[in-house]
Amino acid sequence: MIHTACPYCGVGCGVVARPDGAIAADIAHPANRGRLCSKGAALAQTLDDSGRLTQPQIGGKPASWDDALGLIAAKFRRTIERHGPDSVAFYVSGQCLTEDYYVANKLMKGFIGSGNIDTNSRLCMASSVAGHNRAFGEDIVPGVYEDWEEADLVVLVGSNAAWCHPVLHQRLLAAKAARGTKIVVLDPRRTATAEAADLHLPLTIGSDVALFNGLLAFLHAAGRVDRDWTARHTAGLGAAIAAAGPDDIEETAARCGLDPELVEIFFEMFARTERVMTVYSQGVNQSSVGTDKVNAIVNCHLATGRIGRPGMGPFSVTGQPNAMGGREVGGLANQLAAHMKFDDPADRDALTRFWQAPALTPKPGLKAVELFEAVAAGKIQALWIVATNPADSLPRADRVRSALSACPFVAVSDCWPTDTSVYADVVLPAAAWGEKDGTVTNSERRISRQRPFRPAPGEARPDWWMFAEVGRRMGWEAAFAWESPAAVFREHAALSGFENAGRRVFDIGALADGDDAAYDAMQPVRWPLPAGATQEGGRLFAEGGFPTPDGKARCVPTPFQGLPDRGGHGFLLNTGRVRDQWHTMTRTGLAPSLMAHTPEPLATLHPADAAALGIEPNALVRLSTDEGEVVLRADLRHTQRRGEVFAPMHWTDLFASTGPIGRAVSARVDPVSGQPETKATPVSLSPVATHFHGLLLRRSGLALNRDAFAFAPVSQSNPLLDRAIQTSADSASDHRALPDICHWVRVPVDTGQLFRLTGLRAMPTGDDLDRFARVLLDPPPAADWIEAADPARGMLRVAILVDGVLEACLFLARNPVGLPSEAAVVPILGTAIPDAGRARLLAGRGDAGTMSEGPRICACFAVSRDAIRHAAVTHRLRSVAEIGVRLRAGTNCGSCIPEIEEILRDVRMPAS
Ligand code: SF4
Repeated sequence: MIHTACPYCGVGCGVVARPDGAIAADIAHPANRGRLCSKGAALAQTLDDSGRLTQPQIGGKPASWDDALGLIAAKFRRTIERHGPDSVAFYVSGQCLTEDYYVANKLMKGFIGSGNIDTNSRLCMASSVAGHNRAFGEDIVPGVYEDWEEADLVVLVGSNAAWCHPVLHQRLLAAKAARGTKIVVLDPRRTATAEAADLHLPLTIGSDVALFNGLLAFLHAAGRVDRDWTARHTAGLGAAIAAAGPDDIEETAARCGLDPELVEIFFEMFARTERVMTVYSQGVNQSSVGTDKVNAIVNCHLATGRIGRPGMGPFSVTGQPNAMGGREVGGLANQLAAHMKFDDPADRDALTRFWQAPALTPKPGLKAVELFEAVAAGKIQALWIVATNPADSLPRADRVRSALSACPFVAVSDCWPTDTSVYADVVLPAAAWGEKDGTVTNSERRISRQRPFRPAPGEARPDWWMFAEVGRRMGWEAAFAWESPAAVFREHAALSGFENAGRRVFDIGALADGDDAAYDAMQPVRWPLPAGATQEGGRLFAEGGFPTPDGKARCVPTPFQGLPDRGGHGFLLNTGRVRDQWHTMTRTGLAPSLMAHTPEPLATLHPADAAALGIEPNALVRLSTDEGEVVLRADLRHTQRRGEVFAPMHWTDLFASTGPIGRAVSARVDPVSGQPETKATPVSLSPVATHFHGLLLRRSGLALNRDAFAFAPVSQSNPLLDRAIQTSADSASDHRALPDICHWVRVPVDTGQLFRLTGLRAMPTGDDLDRFARVLLDPPPAADWIEAADPARGMLRVAILVDGVLEACLFLARNPVGLPSEAAVVPILGTAIPDAGRARLLAGRGDAGTMSEGPRICACFAVSRDAIRHAAVTHRLRSVAEIGVRLRAGTNCGSCIPEIEEILRDVRMPAS
């Protein structure tokens, strides 16, 4: 049994890999104590090596490691010689382990001599880093996870923790049940987290600073400022209060688009509750005023002295599993390693001597958005991208793609082919979770080991090794001579304690002297942990001691700058996560059970807005911004504010014709943190005319030709692999003649691949229709082709059988009601169809019946919305526990409990 850590969110849950291949929760890990969410519970389903990158490639052709690494070293060296160190860059990831990050940062900042290493964590929590630095003097989360259970009031700001940090949310709900913790959610959307709250304030997008300024003014006017504590431990409170504006609840409510009564209730709750913590996440960080939002929140805690004591304090939860670890080693372009600072000569001198660095960079590098702008402008000529997919995930995705395609040299290391790796001159196969060996740090400063429990496929290798090999090949053999991640970690730990003496809170010097066995056996431990420490780090700053020159925290004035400009568009586009997907779906997209909750990307908007625009429920809607446009299916909900639309961040060219939402997201950034605004892009909405509907099921994959926006069947079984091996020859083949006629979404299912098709033009007829069907179905020579067609009604049903087994089927109809239910046909894909069953097949009736099941609510036990609704009505079930007894739903990971509660509320509502 191997103890390791989940690779997804910043909660950092412990998991155990059992010898039988099962992945289970680690009951001993302090972050989760035996819990897992739906994503963690499905980890075993993602351990499939098919489609993995297994060999280095140069120019799309297999190559040796020696050649690939040698080429990267040569290209970087030559580019630096010609254009200087700032003409090269690394773009890395919160998926990297701390050891990967450490080596990459040392290579770029200490030896190449540029600050141009940034990370996709820039998109996640750079505003929290900047806010912490401004307030505390260092990037520190003061609290611990136990605070979630010891607070009397927990305020969640811009955080759908029920979906994005589910295990922490479960810990909070357990505390609420046990001791009556009050929960307030500040979020424009009524999310699953808001459903479980005592109070939801649906503030308008971008008004958080106004709300917390109003709270600070209220606390001041109500005499709730802790005069003694603030005098001893803070500076600048008077200026912050002055910048917050008057104590005027009506005005605050108007700015935030809220009912003044709700605002007053929240302010009173905050003011009179000593044990209050404010949790914030991407709704705060991913903003062009994200750093001010962080400081406006922190100001309220500093003013009341509610920080660093049980159940109190501001608490930033990170999106990625090792965003914190990256911050510890200087993974962001504006940080040095070990929380050292660019503008501190003593830090720079210490780091130069510790590394024996020949060329410590004199200045910060380019942050993610400006880094890719520099690539587009030709200022960066060699780029190495590691474990991230900027062609999908960065704002202005099409512009990023153009930049990548114009860049003279791009290397990509990753586990799977992605929309980014297609632009790479060199592709390096990286070891994935379960194969990598190193450490990660979660949102409460707890370092956990990620341990390998399976061999890496083919020639895949860890990222730290690749960077070290390139460093050696660039001429710095001694500085990059580690032979194990344990050796890298020891150096990282030693640097944290080097000439520290309490100057920097981040200090894990106690871990610097352990041998390899100690590293292997390392238990989850929270920093600070300086040399000689006998117990792990705990809460910080209850008695001041901030790492600033005078030891005082800074209250930062955060004047409200107004709401986001709509730029002539009618709506604001807010992007974020769905419950069961992670990033650009390279891993979670492999698990059919995780696809079933939200099978396709939806644009969620208020029904009244939809009605005003003539957008029908489930119809296609076009989202047009100044950057680009995407087409999504409309999801109409009263939980969405008027004038705002939400779309998920996960889908890519591999899963949907419209590709990433990043295509439409603007690249406005926070001026302090450089974090892009992904929550408030001005957008216009319009209905999309559709002409027919289709359902395609295939056991094997289907490569998708982006150039022709058409379909190209190939023989490989994994669409990710298909995409990777797709060659220019595809674009010359017959399918290229197909018109751009369909919006499509690919949904991996247990039996193969399901494609939902929506016709954007008239359904083909005659020979065109036949050719269209043949291209989609790609029948092998010996296949039986059975068909039922009714041209007058615009209906076609075709199935391909090989040796009597259903290989693929296609259903086309002018109206969606003419399609069979997915629940009926998905299970029979890949099964033998007797002659007598062929008519039944073409009628779209499988063994599962024809009733639609709706989205799958419980991913662990495959329980659908309709099954829960049916059981609740039929058996008069009234509680989540009763549903659990009957259907098992909600009894494992618990991620679905808020949605089960919503269904039960819905069922209990009297019909109007
Ligand atoms: Fe993984 Fe879920 Fe835990 Fe996050 S909450 S670390 S996704 S199991």
